[in-house]
Amino acid sequence: MSESLIQVKNLKKYFKTPKGLLHAVDGIDFDIKKGETLGVVGESGCGKSTTGRLLLRLIEATDGEVLFEGKNVLKYNNEQMRQLRKEMQIIFQDPFSSLNPRMSVSEIIGEPLIIHKAVSSKEELAKKVAQLMDTVGLTERLVNAYPHELDGGRRQRIGIGRALALNPKFIVCDEPVSALDVSIQAQVLNLMQDLQKDLGLTYMFITHDLSVVKHISNDIAVMYLGKLVEKAPAKELFKNPMHPYTKALLSAIPVPSIKNKKERILLKGEITSPINPAPGCRFAKRCQYAKEKCFTDDPALVKFGNDHFVSCHFTKELNNL
Ligand code: SF4
Repeated sequence: MSESLIQVKNLKKYFKTPKGLLHAVDGIDFDIKKGETLGVVGESGCGKSTTGRLLLRLIEATDGEVLFEGKNVLKYNNEQMRQLRKEMQIIFQDPFSSLNPRMSVSEIIGEPLIIHKAVSSKEELAKKVAQLMDTVGLTERLVNAYPHELDGGRRQRIGIGRALALNPKFIVCDEPVSALDVSIQAQVLNLMQDLQKDLGLTYMFITHDLSVVKHISNDIAVMYLGKLVEKAPAKELFKNPMHPYTKALLSAIPVPSIKNKKERILLKGEITSPINPAPGCRFAKRCQYAKEKCFTDDPALVKFGNDHFVSCHFTKELNNL
Protein backbone atom coordinates (compact mmCIF):
# COMPACT_ATOMS: atom_id res chain seq x y z
CA MET A 1 0.00 0.00 0.00
CA SER A 2 1.43 3.41 -0.94
CA GLU A 3 2.09 5.96 1.77
CA SER A 4 0.28 9.24 2.27
CA LEU A 5 1.66 12.39 0.67
CA ILE A 6 -0.98 14.60 2.30
CA GLN A 7 -2.61 14.12 5.70
CA VAL A 8 -5.26 16.60 6.82
CA LYS A 9 -6.24 16.61 10.49
CA ASN A 10 -9.16 18.48 12.05
CA LEU A 11 -8.76 21.30 9.50
CA LYS A 12 -10.93 24.36 10.12
CA LYS A 13 -11.46 27.69 8.43
CA TYR A 14 -13.84 30.22 9.94
CA PHE A 15 -14.41 33.61 8.31
CA LYS A 16 -15.57 36.61 10.34
CA THR A 17 -18.74 38.15 8.90
CA PRO A 18 -20.98 40.93 10.28
CA LYS A 19 -23.50 38.25 11.29
CA GLY A 20 -21.01 35.95 13.02
CA LEU A 21 -18.45 33.25 12.22
CA LEU A 22 -18.90 31.48 8.90
CA HIS A 23 -17.77 27.88 9.32
CA ALA A 24 -16.47 27.30 5.77
CA VAL A 25 -14.45 24.20 6.70
CA ASP A 26 -15.32 22.68 10.06
CA GLY A 27 -12.96 19.99 11.29
CA ILE A 28 -12.23 17.67 8.38
CA ASP A 29 -9.75 14.77 8.18
CA PHE A 30 -8.44 12.91 5.13
CA ASP A 31 -5.30 11.47 3.56
CA ILE A 32 -4.14 11.45 -0.06
CA LYS A 33 -1.73 8.67 -1.00
CA LYS A 34 1.31 9.27 -3.21
CA GLY A 35 0.50 9.07 -6.91
CA GLU A 36 -3.25 8.87 -6.28
CA THR A 37 -6.24 11.18 -6.70
CA LEU A 38 -8.73 12.21 -4.08
CA GLY A 39 -11.91 13.58 -5.64
CA VAL A 40 -13.63 16.15 -3.39
CA VAL A 41 -17.26 16.64 -4.27
CA GLY A 42 -20.09 18.87 -3.09
CA GLU A 43 -22.38 21.75 -3.94
CA SER A 44 -21.09 25.28 -4.24
CA GLY A 45 -20.41 26.70 -0.76
CA CYS A 46 -19.61 23.31 0.82
CA GLY A 47 -16.00 24.31 1.51
CA LYS A 48 -14.25 22.19 -1.12
CA SER A 49 -12.39 25.04 -2.85
CA THR A 50 -11.55 26.61 0.52
CA THR A 51 -10.04 23.26 1.55
CA GLY A 52 -7.83 23.23 -1.56
CA ARG A 53 -6.62 26.74 -0.83
CA LEU A 54 -5.95 25.88 2.83
CA LEU A 55 -3.71 22.99 1.79
CA LEU A 56 -1.61 25.34 -0.34
CA ARG A 57 -1.81 28.11 2.28
CA LEU A 58 -3.30 30.52 -0.23
CA ILE A 59 -5.52 31.26 2.78
CA GLU A 60 -4.60 30.56 6.40
CA ALA A 61 -6.37 27.91 8.45
CA THR A 62 -8.15 28.69 11.71
CA ASP A 63 -7.06 25.37 13.22
CA GLY A 64 -5.84 21.89 12.37
CA GLU A 65 -2.86 20.36 10.58
CA VAL A 66 -1.84 19.79 6.97
CA LEU A 67 1.01 17.31 6.76
CA PHE A 68 2.98 17.17 3.50
CA GLU A 69 5.44 14.26 3.55
CA GLY A 70 4.86 14.07 7.31
CA LYS A 71 5.55 17.75 8.12
CA ASN A 72 2.90 20.26 9.17
CA VAL A 73 3.09 22.98 6.49
CA LEU A 74 0.77 25.25 8.49
CA LYS A 75 3.79 25.89 10.74
CA TYR A 76 6.20 26.68 7.89
CA ASN A 77 7.92 30.09 7.77
CA ASN A 78 8.12 32.21 4.59
CA GLU A 79 11.34 30.61 3.32
CA GLN A 80 10.02 27.06 3.90
CA MET A 81 6.80 28.06 2.10
CA ARG A 82 8.78 29.46 -0.84
CA GLN A 83 10.44 26.07 -1.27
CA LEU A 84 7.17 24.22 -0.75
CA ARG A 85 5.39 26.24 -3.47
CA LYS A 86 7.48 24.35 -6.04
CA GLU A 87 6.08 21.05 -4.76
CA MET A 88 2.41 22.05 -4.47
CA GLN A 89 0.55 23.72 -7.34
CA ILE A 90 -3.01 24.57 -8.35
CA ILE A 91 -5.01 24.47 -11.57
CA PHE A 92 -8.02 26.78 -11.56
CA GLN A 93 -11.52 26.34 -12.91
CA ASP A 94 -11.64 29.16 -15.40
CA PRO A 95 -8.43 29.16 -17.41
CA PHE A 96 -9.39 32.45 -19.04
CA SER A 97 -9.65 34.53 -15.88
CA SER A 98 -6.70 32.81 -14.20
CA LEU A 99 -4.28 33.55 -17.05
CA ASN A 100 -2.83 37.04 -17.51
CA PRO A 101 -4.30 38.24 -20.85
CA ARG A 102 -1.26 40.42 -21.52
CA MET A 103 1.17 37.52 -21.39
CA SER A 104 1.89 35.09 -24.22
CA VAL A 105 1.72 31.31 -23.82
CA SER A 106 5.50 31.06 -23.36
CA GLU A 107 5.56 33.90 -20.84
CA ILE A 108 2.76 32.35 -18.76
CA ILE A 109 4.30 28.88 -18.69
CA GLY A 110 7.81 30.23 -18.14
CA GLU A 111 6.94 32.72 -15.37
CA PRO A 112 7.25 30.28 -12.42
CA LEU A 113 10.67 29.20 -13.73
CA ILE A 114 11.84 32.83 -13.65
CA ILE A 115 10.27 33.62 -10.25
CA HIS A 116 11.90 30.57 -8.64
CA LYS A 117 15.18 31.07 -10.55
CA ALA A 118 14.87 27.55 -11.92
CA VAL A 119 16.62 28.44 -15.21
CA SER A 120 19.92 30.24 -15.75
CA SER A 121 19.62 31.53 -19.32
CA LYS A 122 17.08 32.59 -21.93
CA GLU A 123 17.98 29.54 -23.99
CA GLU A 124 17.33 27.20 -21.07
CA LEU A 125 14.00 28.95 -20.41
CA ALA A 126 12.92 28.60 -24.05
CA LYS A 127 13.92 24.92 -24.06
CA LYS A 128 12.04 24.18 -20.82
CA VAL A 129 8.91 26.04 -22.05
CA ALA A 130 9.02 24.10 -25.34
CA GLN A 131 9.24 20.83 -23.39
CA LEU A 132 6.32 21.80 -21.15
CA MET A 133 4.19 22.82 -24.16
CA ASP A 134 4.95 19.48 -25.74
CA THR A 135 4.06 17.64 -22.50
CA VAL A 136 0.61 19.25 -22.35
CA GLY A 137 -0.08 18.91 -26.08
CA LEU A 138 0.34 22.54 -27.21
CA THR A 139 2.00 22.91 -30.60
CA GLU A 140 5.14 25.01 -30.87
CA ARG A 141 3.49 27.53 -33.17
CA LEU A 142 1.36 28.75 -30.22
CA VAL A 143 4.41 29.92 -28.30
CA ASN A 144 3.65 33.60 -28.94
CA ALA A 145 -0.16 33.32 -28.90
CA TYR A 146 -2.26 35.04 -26.23
CA PRO A 147 -4.95 33.34 -24.11
CA HIS A 148 -7.84 35.13 -25.90
CA GLU A 149 -6.70 33.65 -29.22
CA LEU A 150 -7.15 30.08 -27.95
CA ASP A 151 -10.14 27.87 -27.10
CA GLY A 152 -10.96 26.76 -23.54
CA GLY A 153 -9.22 23.39 -23.84
CA ARG A 154 -5.95 24.93 -24.99
CA ARG A 155 -6.19 27.60 -22.31
CA GLN A 156 -6.54 24.90 -19.67
CA ARG A 157 -3.51 23.14 -21.15
CA ILE A 158 -1.55 26.38 -20.55
CA GLY A 159 -2.72 26.32 -16.92
CA ILE A 160 -1.59 22.71 -16.57
CA GLY A 161 1.77 23.46 -18.25
CA ARG A 162 2.35 26.35 -15.86
CA ALA A 163 1.44 24.17 -12.87
CA LEU A 164 3.95 21.53 -14.03
CA ALA A 165 6.81 23.98 -14.65
CA LEU A 166 8.52 23.40 -11.29
CA ASN A 167 8.05 19.60 -11.20
CA PRO A 168 5.47 19.57 -8.39
CA LYS A 169 4.50 16.44 -6.47
CA PHE A 170 0.98 17.59 -5.60
CA ILE A 171 -1.62 19.54 -7.60
CA VAL A 172 -4.94 20.88 -6.38
CA CYS A 173 -7.23 20.76 -9.41
CA ASP A 174 -10.10 23.17 -8.65
CA GLU A 175 -12.96 22.34 -11.05
CA PRO A 176 -10.43 22.19 -13.92
CA VAL A 177 -12.90 21.00 -16.55
CA SER A 178 -16.16 22.61 -15.40
CA ALA A 179 -15.88 25.52 -17.82
CA LEU A 180 -15.13 23.27 -20.81
CA ASP A 181 -17.35 21.54 -23.38
CA VAL A 182 -17.95 17.85 -22.66
CA SER A 183 -15.72 16.63 -25.54
CA ILE A 184 -12.87 18.90 -24.43
CA GLN A 185 -13.42 17.81 -20.80
CA ALA A 186 -12.56 14.23 -21.76
CA GLN A 187 -9.36 15.35 -23.53
CA VAL A 188 -8.17 17.38 -20.55
CA LEU A 189 -9.05 14.59 -18.08
CA ASN A 190 -7.13 12.08 -20.22
CA LEU A 191 -4.15 14.42 -20.33
CA MET A 192 -4.24 14.79 -16.54
CA GLN A 193 -4.39 11.02 -16.07
CA ASP A 194 -1.48 10.47 -18.48
CA LEU A 195 0.58 13.10 -16.67
CA GLN A 196 -0.20 11.49 -13.34
CA LYS A 197 1.05 8.15 -14.60
CA ASP A 198 4.17 9.56 -16.27
CA LEU A 199 5.19 12.01 -13.56
CA GLY A 200 3.87 10.27 -10.44
CA LEU A 201 1.65 13.24 -9.55
CA THR A 202 -0.77 13.30 -6.64
CA TYR A 203 -4.05 15.17 -7.21
CA MET A 204 -6.82 16.61 -5.12
CA PHE A 205 -9.57 16.97 -7.70
CA ILE A 206 -12.36 19.35 -6.64
CA THR A 207 -15.68 19.28 -8.47
CA HIS A 208 -19.43 19.73 -7.99
CA ASP A 209 -20.03 16.92 -10.50
CA LEU A 210 -19.59 13.37 -9.19
CA SER A 211 -19.57 11.86 -12.66
CA VAL A 212 -16.41 13.84 -13.55
CA VAL A 213 -14.38 12.27 -10.71
CA LYS A 214 -15.67 8.72 -11.12
CA HIS A 215 -12.87 7.56 -13.40
CA ILE A 216 -10.06 9.84 -12.29
CA SER A 217 -10.27 9.29 -8.50
CA ASN A 218 -8.95 6.52 -6.29
CA ASP A 219 -10.95 7.83 -3.34
CA ILE A 220 -13.86 10.27 -3.18
CA ALA A 221 -14.74 12.58 -0.29
CA VAL A 222 -18.19 14.17 -0.21
CA MET A 223 -18.51 17.52 1.59
CA TYR A 224 -21.62 19.23 2.87
CA LEU A 225 -21.55 22.68 4.51
CA GLY A 226 -17.95 22.48 5.72
CA LYS A 227 -18.14 18.85 6.88
CA LEU A 228 -17.00 15.61 5.32
CA VAL A 229 -20.10 13.40 5.18
CA GLU A 230 -18.75 10.36 3.34
CA LYS A 231 -15.41 9.08 2.06
CA ALA A 232 -14.67 5.83 0.28
CA PRO A 233 -12.75 4.30 -2.62
CA ALA A 234 -14.39 5.61 -5.83
CA LYS A 235 -15.83 2.29 -7.00
CA GLU A 236 -17.24 1.53 -3.55
CA LEU A 237 -18.84 4.97 -3.26
CA PHE A 238 -20.63 4.59 -6.60
CA LYS A 239 -21.69 1.02 -5.86
CA ASN A 240 -22.66 1.43 -2.27
CA PRO A 241 -23.33 5.05 -1.21
CA MET A 242 -24.46 5.19 2.42
CA HIS A 243 -25.04 8.85 3.35
CA PRO A 244 -28.43 10.30 2.32
CA TYR A 245 -26.71 13.31 0.72
CA THR A 246 -24.35 11.14 -1.38
CA LYS A 247 -27.34 9.08 -2.51
CA ALA A 248 -29.10 12.25 -3.63
CA LEU A 249 -25.99 13.45 -5.53
CA LEU A 250 -25.63 10.09 -7.26
CA SER A 251 -29.31 9.97 -8.19
CA ALA A 252 -28.84 13.22 -10.13
CA ILE A 253 -26.32 11.66 -12.55
CA PRO A 254 -28.10 10.77 -15.80
CA VAL A 255 -27.97 7.07 -16.75
CA PRO A 256 -27.79 6.25 -20.49
CA SER A 257 -30.36 3.44 -20.20
CA ILE A 258 -34.16 3.46 -20.29
CA LYS A 259 -34.38 0.03 -18.61
CA ASN A 260 -32.32 0.88 -15.54
CA LYS A 261 -33.71 4.37 -15.06
CA LYS A 262 -33.24 5.41 -11.43
CA GLU A 263 -35.38 7.75 -9.46
CA ARG A 264 -33.89 11.15 -8.75
CA ILE A 265 -33.90 12.10 -5.07
CA LEU A 266 -34.95 15.73 -4.89
CA LEU A 267 -33.61 17.61 -1.90
CA LYS A 268 -36.19 19.82 -0.29
CA GLY A 269 -36.01 22.05 2.75
CA GLU A 270 -33.90 25.01 3.61
CA ILE A 271 -30.10 24.88 3.66
CA THR A 272 -28.65 25.31 7.17
CA SER A 273 -26.74 28.57 7.57
CA PRO A 274 -22.98 28.06 7.86
CA ILE A 275 -22.85 31.19 10.06
CA ASN A 276 -22.76 30.18 13.76
CA PRO A 277 -24.33 26.81 12.82
CA ALA A 278 -26.42 25.13 15.51
CA PRO A 279 -25.25 21.73 16.78
CA GLY A 280 -26.48 18.65 14.96
CA CYS A 281 -26.16 17.26 11.47
CA ARG A 282 -25.70 20.04 8.90
CA PHE A 283 -27.86 18.09 6.47
CA ALA A 284 -30.80 17.65 8.88
CA LYS A 285 -33.10 20.31 7.40
CA ARG A 286 -32.95 18.65 3.98
CA CYS A 287 -32.80 15.01 5.07
CA GLN A 288 -35.95 12.90 4.71
CA TYR A 289 -34.69 10.55 7.47
CA ALA A 290 -33.91 13.21 10.09
CA LYS A 291 -34.96 12.42 13.67
CA GLU A 292 -34.73 14.46 16.85
CA LYS A 293 -31.13 13.43 17.55
CA CYS A 294 -30.05 14.82 14.16
CA PHE A 295 -30.95 18.35 15.29
CA THR A 296 -28.97 18.19 18.55
CA ASP A 297 -25.91 15.92 18.09
CA ASP A 298 -23.11 16.19 15.53
CA PRO A 299 -22.66 12.81 13.79
CA ALA A 300 -19.04 11.58 13.80
CA LEU A 301 -17.33 10.16 10.70
CA VAL A 302 -17.43 6.41 11.39
CA LYS A 303 -15.79 3.54 9.49
CA PHE A 304 -18.09 0.98 7.87
CA GLY A 305 -16.19 -1.77 6.08
CA ASN A 306 -13.03 -1.27 4.06
CA ASP A 307 -11.99 2.40 4.07
CA HIS A 308 -15.63 3.50 3.87
CA PHE A 309 -16.44 6.36 6.27
CA VAL A 310 -19.88 7.87 6.84
CA SER A 311 -21.10 10.69 9.06
CA CYS A 312 -24.72 9.88 9.91
CA HIS A 313 -26.37 8.74 13.15
CA PHE A 314 -28.47 6.17 11.32
CA THR A 315 -26.07 4.64 8.78
CA LYS A 316 -26.78 1.10 10.00
CA GLU A 317 -30.56 1.41 9.95
CA LEU A 318 -30.68 3.22 6.59
CA ASN A 319 -28.40 0.72 4.88
CA ASN A 320 -29.53 -2.51 6.56
CA LEU A 321 -26.07 -3.15 8.01
FE1 SF4 B 1 -30.04 12.52 7.92
FE2 SF4 B 1 -29.79 12.42 10.56
FE3 SF4 B 1 -28.15 11.03 9.04
FE4 SF4 B 1 -27.97 13.68 9.14
S1 SF4 B 1 -27.59 12.28 10.83
S2 SF4 B 1 -27.89 12.43 7.33
S3 SF4 B 1 -30.10 14.25 9.31
S4 SF4 B 1 -30.36 10.75 9.21
